[in-house]
Amino acid sequence: MVSLIALKSGAGLAIRGGTPSRGQKVKDLFVLNLHPNLTVRFSFSVSLGAGFSGTRTAAVMQRALFSRSAQLAQQAAAALDSPLAGRSAPLLQRLDRSMSSVTIPPPACMLKPLEAPLRYLFGPGPSNVPPRVLAAGGRPIIGHLHPEMYEIMNDIKKGIQYAFQTENNMTISMSGSGHAAMECAVFNTVEPGESVLVAINGIWGERVAEIAERMGANVHRMVKSPGGYFSNKEIEQAVEKHKPVLFFLTHGESSAGLCHPVDGIGDICRKHNCLFLVDTVASLGAAPIFMDKQNIDILYTGSQKALNAPPGTAPISFNERACHKMFNRKTKPVSYLFDMTHLSNYWGCDGEPARLYHHTGPVSGFFALRESLAILAEKGLEESWRKHKEVAAYLYRGLEDLGLKLFVPERDLRLPSVTTIAIPEGYNWRELLTYIMKHHQMEMTGGLGPSIGMVMRIGLMGYNCEKTNADMALHALADALKTCKKSKA
Ligand code: PMP
Repeated sequence: MVSLIALKSGAGLAIRGGTPSRGQKVKDLFVLNLHPNLTVRFSFSVSLGAGFSGTRTAAVMQRALFSRSAQLAQQAAAALDSPLAGRSAPLLQRLDRSMSSVTIPPPACMLKPLEAPLRYLFGPGPSNVPPRVLAAGGRPIIGHLHPEMYEIMNDIKKGIQYAFQTENNMTISMSGSGHAAMECAVFNTVEPGESVLVAINGIWGERVAEIAERMGANVHRMVKSPGGYFSNKEIEQAVEKHKPVLFFLTHGESSAGLCHPVDGIGDICRKHNCLFLVDTVASLGAAPIFMDKQNIDILYTGSQKALNAPPGTAPISFNERACHKMFNRKTKPVSYLFDMTHLSNYWGCDGEPARLYHHTGPVSGFFALRESLAILAEKGLEESWRKHKEVAAYLYRGLEDLGLKLFVPERDLRLPSVTTIAIPEGYNWRELLTYIMKHHQMEMTGGLGPSIGMVMRIGLMGYNCEKTNADMALHALADALKTCKKSKA
């Protein structure tokens, strides 16, 4: 038998009976004696607007009721009796607004439940997140400095080493999106006044150039229009000319849908004593990259594309050359949060026995990232690359069958995760995309930065990388092409 105690006498809240008024002491004691395994159908409401119902065993009910009513009792006691009543301001306001010390009322939107629609995220990211990764992110929080969290971070490090194909010890995840990794790479390896060379063939090179300029680097740009790419000869000539400490290249240019060749560039950089930094935010898991074999000194990615974790974490890795440069600086990096001397300790990469507090890592984000890296490890990189290529090829055929033109003519240079379509003549791309969102609940996007007005983009990555999804995207596009054209006529 268990006693179902809803509330103790005098705690300040009526479980049965009416709404308590200010100053009222409630004497009710509510006890039910039930067998713990007895299933009880209940509908139970307490005053102050709280209520719950359902079917539970008595033991579960006891726990739920007791903790809920204890919580409500505390709130009510604080609101009604406590000299510190201001602490329970929202509740107090509901009870007696004239006593409120706050002048800004609770916003009406915050008193409504969260609403987030279900959408097919077939744009350049974020991509839909598999239930398994969502579930991992929804697990109860543990402390960011608990030994179990360190173990999870160690697992993440191994998962990233696999995904990047590197043995680099200095491999971590940023607490932040792809931009955090971008800034971390530049802030730590470049000092003010040093020369940086950036390849720009879409938005991401320009973004890195701006980041480097902001921290005082002497930035040199090599520029091609979206969809363009650089030969190794062009790169070597620019490296010889500008003598940069860092050369930046985007592997998967998501704004243009181009996957840039990487072979040989690391060797050029090595020869000229320059670090090679590569962005794989949009390409990791979708197109082959081999950090160690390709002599890439710094590599980063994002969580929300082919990895299929929620946005907000960003794996990054530095090799020995990069570590040598960043740990032998004359000046401190401009950012405390992104300072690798601290982050390397937090991630257990600096050989120190103790991992110290630096910032509070995104615990749920790391759970989800670990799960997404686990899925990639189970599936295998080669299988993931193969699948992205196969589904992309299927999509290309379907798009061409619709009479559409792919933006990147060279098939081998197309980014398998994000396909760019030249905007079909006579159509307003915004109208097409708005129609697809409205009638198919599907996100596809236009261009970004220099590719705006040039392309529409379809991303099928990771979990979304399936022929059935390609079919859905093609069907939605066909419908939009038919309907939007008609509406224009
Ligand atoms: N690089 C590339 C190639 C990207 O596609 C993106 C995101 N679209 C970023 C960097 C920036 O990542 P985030 O939005 O996660 O900061």
